[in-house]
Amino acid sequence: MIVMKFGGTSVEDAKAMRNVAGIVMTNAVRRPLVVASACAGVTNALLTLARSSPEAGREHALAQVEELRVRHRKIAHDLFSGEVLFTVQSQIDAMMDELRDLVKSIAILGELTERSLDTIAGFGERLSTLLLCHHMKQQGADCVLVSAGDVLVTSAEYTRAVPLREAIDERASRIIAPLLEAGQIVITQGFLGATEAGVPTTIGRGGSDYSAALFGAALNAEEIQIWTDVDGVMTSDPSVIPNAKVIEEMTFREAAELAYFGAKVLHPATIQPAVEKNIPVRVLNSKRPDVGGTVIVSEGSFGARRGVTSIAYKEDITLITITSTRMLMMHGFLARVFAIFAAHRKSVDVIATSEVSLSLTVDSQENLEAIFGELRSVGAIEVVHDKSIFCVVGEGLKSSPSAVAKVFRTLDEHAIPVSMISLGASEINVTFVVEGKDIQRTALALHEAFFPD
Ligand code: ASP
Ligand code: MG
Repeated sequence: MIVMKFGGTSVEDAKAMRNVAGIVMTNAVRRPLVVASACAGVTNALLTLARSSPEAGREHALAQVEELRVRHRKIAHDLFSGEVLFTVQSQIDAMMDELRDLVKSIAILGELTERSLDTIAGFGERLSTLLLCHHMKQQGADCVLVSAGDVLVTSAEYTRAVPLREAIDERASRIIAPLLEAGQIVITQGFLGATEAGVPTTIGRGGSDYSAALFGAALNAEEIQIWTDVDGVMTSDPSVIPNAKVIEEMTFREAAELAYFGAKVLHPATIQPAVEKNIPVRVLNSKRPDVGGTVIVSEGSFGARRGVTSIAYKEDITLITITSTRMLMMHGFLARVFAIFAAHRKSVDVIATSEVSLSLTVDSQENLEAIFGELRSVGAIEVVHDKSIFCVVGEGLKSSPSAVAKVFRTLDEHAIPVSMISLGASEINVTFVVEGKDIQRTALALHEAFFPD
């Protein structure tokens, strides 16, 4: 079987849903489990109306409920007619009435609990999957809707509930597997779960990818497909590098390195269940289903070794250097420095040390003044803003010193000054810091060197 996850923009309206149905039905022989997000923007709308209902009062919140009713009834109207339209719209109305009652009671009580917030957040996925399932049936597919809450068992930590893997495995094989074996296409909701006792939960914003990985791992999927609105993971940021290309294949480790740079890759934590089970995860574009996308695989199944997979960068970096002659031959110096960052819950990204100094980078200004105050008790500090971190990622880097040399030769040829280098921590990346103003030319030079046209 395979898991096919569709994000919000892939199911945003009737046209998008028709397209998704086509993609799923083309893959029917692979026994798909479809995991869908809410229609684009709906989760945000639900959370906003829930949060505003205690204060903004019930009229305002109820008006927003009606807007959502209209939006989903309209999709139904575009997809169906006659008897089916009547049935689907009545089901939408029943759900929206339920939502309206919930909102009313929150407005009356003047209090919103996280538990109610999760129940409300869940309406988006419940509506989108209802529409999608009816549409596929109308297209002749033998499909069935399974409530994610019946399978995806979680803790009761509302809004960020923790999936309970054993219970999920058990329920998925008991509830979903037999349907797939019988040849049915199963549709379920991303993002949603329920406690053992059946109280609705959610597993965190953007959680549908995580749901897909959890279902895929529980059912030992051949492949987990994440359908989005980009062609896959790119060799670099296409807004800076117009000829950035789609990476055909990369490893989970490479994806994890790139995630920090916001390279539109899946968050590594969300695909962890797939990594554990060695299930390839493929990122695909639902608007261009014929493009092969990017497949993310474990190291073991990684094919031809290349030098470099991707070049990513992050802007607005602050570089801090702490110098102290007391550091020489001393123990505990680094521990003291990092304790200060930890106490302020500040994450440090790149570090480099010498005998008497330590350079590190942070990516936000939050709490910095307080941190500097404390750091001065440890040594002299120097702070430079508006730096940029570059990260050249590739499994091939660990076996090929020449690829590393090529990075710095390229920077040298373009006279791009580098202020900090970190090599080797993960073996598959070279990270260095350049001036913020050099971002574009650094990216262009490296991309040209590693991915010539
Ligand atoms: N609809 C949920 C959200 O917007 C989950 C998802 O789309 O992944 O956070
Ligand atoms: Mg999403």
